[in-house]
Amino acid sequence: MNVKNQTKEQQTLLNSGKFLPIMEEFYTIQGEGDKAGKPAYFIRIGGCDVGCHWCDVKESWDASIHPLVEVDSILDKLKDIPSKDVVITGGEPTIYNLDYLCNFLHRNHYQTYLETSGAHPFSGRWNWICLSPKKNIPPKPEVYSLAHELKIIIHNKNDFMWAEEHAELVNSDCKLFLQPEWSKLDQMMPLIVDYVMGNPKWNVSLQTHKVMHIP
Ligand code: SF4
Repeated sequence: MNVKNQTKEQQTLLNSGKFLPIMEEFYTIQGEGDKAGKPAYFIRIGGCDVGCHWCDVKESWDASIHPLVEVDSILDKLKDIPSKDVVITGGEPTIYNLDYLCNFLHRNHYQTYLETSGAHPFSGRWNWICLSPKKNIPPKPEVYSLAHELKIIIHNKNDFMWAEEHAELVNSDCKLFLQPEWSKLDQMMPLIVDYVMGNPKWNVSLQTHKVMHIP
């Protein structure tokens, strides 16, 4: 896929998958969803065309402001990290060819975790996929069956219906989470608690990293 504001030369590097526009990398604790509480190395790839109005990482949207980083150089940073779990997030990482990155991580004995809206077809090999559909660009039909975890952000009360529509599309063993959009936490939390207690196939997810004051 062609990424906005990239030169032809940069686009060629991106297409190879050997370079990616990395916004930030950090070792932290996963705050959300099924793996909440697990330490992991996060790689946030710049570039997102989904445009959620409540997005809390809008600075990730424009890929061209983030440096193109050689994937092989990531190993240097990983070597001092005690965890073998690597979370690839964004932005929307599936804009890019992630085959090289995943092969590279697996070859070096890391587990690969993907956080995605599913707006683009997947590349790469993943130990765990967290699918978090967004209304602006709903997931590609083929990605639902690949998700290990479905995480629906609840911004208003209509989002429960949206959540159920997506739960119909994932595999029966996919874990289901409802997570309040952070700015609506106080309004949505009581509704989510009631909903999950009445519909126990769902679980509550919270952005616990924000409570821990970590990235
Ligand atoms: S998909 Fe994620 S990064 Fe992109 S706009 Fe939505 S919340 Fe932000």
